[in-house]
Amino acid sequence: MFVAYSDKHLLHAPKQIIFRGRIFDNVEAPARATELAAAARAAGCQLAAPREFGLEPVLSVHTSAYVEFLQTAYARWRAMFGDAGAGPSVVPHASPTRFPARLPQAIQGQVGYFLAGTSAPIEENTWPAIQASADCALEVSSRLLEGMREGYAICRPAGHHAYADVAGGYCYLNNAAIAAEQIARRQGKVAVLDIDVHHGNGTQNIFYRRGDVLFVSIHGDPNEVYPFYSGYADEQGEDDGKDCNLNLPLPKGSKDAGFLEALNVALAAITRFGAPSLVLSLGFDAHEDDPQSEMAVTNQCFYEVGLRIATLGLATAIIQEGGYYIPGLASNLTAFLDGFKAGRT
Ligand SMILES: [Zn+2]
Repeated sequence: MFVAYSDKHLLHAPKQIIFRGRIFDNVEAPARATELAAAARAAGCQLAAPREFGLEPVLSVHTSAYVEFLQTAYARWRAMFGDAGAGPSVVPHASPTRFPARLPQAIQGQVGYFLAGTSAPIEENTWPAIQASADCALEVSSRLLEGMREGYAICRPAGHHAYADVAGGYCYLNNAAIAAEQIARRQGKVAVLDIDVHHGNGTQNIFYRRGDVLFVSIHGDPNEVYPFYSGYADEQGEDDGKDCNLNLPLPKGSKDAGFLEALNVALAAITRFGAPSLVLSLGFDAHEDDPQSEMAVTNQCFYEVGLRIATLGLATAIIQEGGYYIPGLASNLTAFLDGFKAGRT
């Protein structure tokens, strides 16, 4: 399988994160992507750095004010506070939350406007890593449009929690949405399946009123699991997008059987939708060893996921999302790829 991978993800390495009111070592670490790349190589995949696609495809999904913020936030932050006054990461301390918000001019206010919480810190070289991650997704979607049947983008940072103008949950640009937008424009319609343990709230929101993009997500019940504020079963799309959004939340602690039952419902919906291509947001954080412990699926489940998705016969752009048990990521990916390969033969 073709794999897009860029070393530029190494430029983004926030050391710590505020979680549950405490400062932790950041589990969203560069080793995640290097482990996945090593596993892909060991599985016989062909790895290549992506082309540079520029901002045009990014701006097909994100607002220009937000993209400019991502590009300039760190420099503006340091200019405002100085080396002694600012920490290593741009992190908000005030957000507009549920109240009507306006975009202020100063960086302090913009940080809260564009970053949903403390889990999307911006450091000095975060932007080039973000852009290379989107380029990995675009490399795969572009090759799909040129006739390739499947490809895998090792995207880091991940993307599915990013809205058109809000970052959150380790995500800045929505790589899967950017790839899906390119495919939908050329092929008329596209399906997106998100199997990360966390709901793909950004992807859902970007396409919520669109009838040409089906979004299906299997994830932990947002009553208990991040992102908390969306991912409920009654969110089914609006306007042209009515019935083009399918959320399949599962109870915290769900195992293989429950996950695969939901997968069958998801795949039936994708088949009914009838698009020629699929974008898969692939997270491994539903695994039983993941530090966030939201679900308890095994590598056998990831094998089955790969197998059943491949059996659909759709051109498939596989976009990496979460997965934080670093010692297990190689075996998670190997299981998925083995299943996918078996489903294509
Ligand atoms: Zn996740």
